[in-house]
Amino acid sequence: MDILKLHTGDILELKKVHPCGTRQFRVLRVGSDVRIVCCGCGRDLVLDRLKLERAVKRVVSSAESTSAKHPNETIGKDGSQS
Ligand SMILES: [Zn+2]
Repeated sequence: MDILKLHTGDILELKKVHPCGTRQFRVLRVGSDVRIVCCGCGRDLVLDRLKLERAVKRVVSSAESTSAKHPNETIGKDGSQS
């Protein structure tokens, strides 16, 4: 059983597509529930941590391992929308 490690600033790709067509969400706050914001339309939502863990398909970029990068919202490489 994998335990998903979430960090503020992580970009997550969910199994579900947001109504705006984006799957990628950025973690804003981690606690007993997790607040994420849609990378496409900027709407934020709060999910139970367990629900979110089930909904996550993969972690696109981990804030921990990419701390050298700018903490911007650029998702060009992987989630290219062009
Ligand atoms: Zn959206």
